[in-house]
Amino acid sequence: MQSAIVLGGGMIGVSAALHLQQRGWAVTLVDRREPGRETSYGNAGMIQAEAVRPYPMPRDLATLLKIATGRTNDVRYSLSSLHLHIEPLLRYWWHSAPKRHREAVDAWARLIAYATSEHDILIREAHADNLIRRAGYRMLHRDAASFDLAIKTAEEDRREFGVNFRVLSGKELARAEPVLRDDLPGAIHWLDTWTVSDPGALVTAYAELFERRGGTIVLGDAQSLQQTATGWSVDTDQGRLDAAHAVVTLGPWSPDLLHKFGYRIPLVRKRGYHMHYSGGASLDLPLIDKAGGYAMGPMAKGIRITTGAELTSPDALATPVQLASAEASARELIDLGKRVEPDPWFGTRPCTPDMLPVLGQAPQHPGLWMNFGHGHQGFTLGPATGRLLAEMMSGETPAIDPTPYRPERF
Ligand SMILES: Cc1cc2nc3c(=O)[nH]c(=O)nc-3n(C[C@H](O)[C@H](O)[C@H](O)COP(=O)(O)OP(=O)(O)OC[C@H]3O[C@@H](n4cnc5c(N)ncnc54)[C@H](O)[C@@H]3O)c2cc1C
Repeated sequence: MQSAIVLGGGMIGVSAALHLQQRGWAVTLVDRREPGRETSYGNAGMIQAEAVRPYPMPRDLATLLKIATGRTNDVRYSLSSLHLHIEPLLRYWWHSAPKRHREAVDAWARLIAYATSEHDILIREAHADNLIRRAGYRMLHRDAASFDLAIKTAEEDRREFGVNFRVLSGKELARAEPVLRDDLPGAIHWLDTWTVSDPGALVTAYAELFERRGGTIVLGDAQSLQQTATGWSVDTDQGRLDAAHAVVTLGPWSPDLLHKFGYRIPLVRKRGYHMHYSGGASLDLPLIDKAGGYAMGPMAKGIRITTGAELTSPDALATPVQLASAEASARELIDLGKRVEPDPWFGTRPCTPDMLPVLGQAPQHPGLWMNFGHGHQGFTLGPATGRLLAEMMSGETPAIDPTPYRPERF
């Protein structure tokens, strides 16, 4: 029987472990804490079938000036950490040119096409349907020009990728979400996206499924990974663990471990914050306020607001400026109620400069595999990329051509 240690129990690692297990592998999942308690816990909880275009870096001067002068809530940067981001940002800029972005869209959309169908299998097997809504989400536009442009792009996505949506006028939006004002221009209701009331709980449900099927989860430090005569070993609280293969699914921490083995994989680390609100109005479906640069959705603990991207250093203290601005924008729309937690949660979207995940075998280390860098949609893509990885590791013909995601491109 083939054996593997999966390092990192977020949505990506747990899904990969399940797919390997299904193919007869003996799999141990190692994390320094309980599965699903980092990035996969704190996100906006959307399984985004509509997200066929990975987010490029803005290249027009007006938007760049807005970011530079702090006049947008989508992106914020700390000047003192900018030197850490320069190299990945320059590469991100280069890959965001229209022709190269188009290549990224093609490779990305092929993965997104499997997102909901692969989650669906795991949701049913994990009996996690109580966490899921299959009713989409709404993207609010506060000005007519941005709304018109968004409708045009949505129509292109429908033609090319079969993504389904409905355009809602301001009045239709207010009928669908009576807690909202009725003087807004309108929204796009993306119909195919699913939303999760507690993202961490979905990872837990998948991890429990893995254990019920005979998988083992142990606490351990991935940084202790070593190559051995027969494969790979890692130190855990159960002692040393050995396997023929190791899989790095450490999300934003992945490049730190791979650095030890000589790999320099750049990441654009986009931090995001969340906060819950209760005691006010409740939304039916999640809403992205495009102009405000945030998302808000009904979740187990109340309405969760999640923010856009902050470029800061990985160990910087919380600077929830974007959260304050998002909260003020949200209060213009609905009665939010009170903050639930004393401090905001924050985590990092692991974004690669070419907007594609890193998936495949390490070029210089047989038996060492990578699956990370899913950026803004890792929660969406866990089961789809877990399947692709397991197919490759098992020597099957992969359902999708894995070439665009190969680690050796860096
Ligand atoms: C604000 C925000 C909103 C988002 N919204 C969405 C959304 O709506 N939809 C969507 O699809 N995506 C969303 N994302 C992106 C998504 O959350 C991530 O892409 C995804 O969670 C990454 O999953 P992962 O398993 O790679 O990483 P993680 O979930 O971070 O898992 C990595 C694991 O590695 C473990 N680990 C790290 N270091 C070590 C070590 N040394 N030893 C052992 N274990 C270690 C951690 O404990 C963790 O469990 C959002 C992200 C943010 C920040």
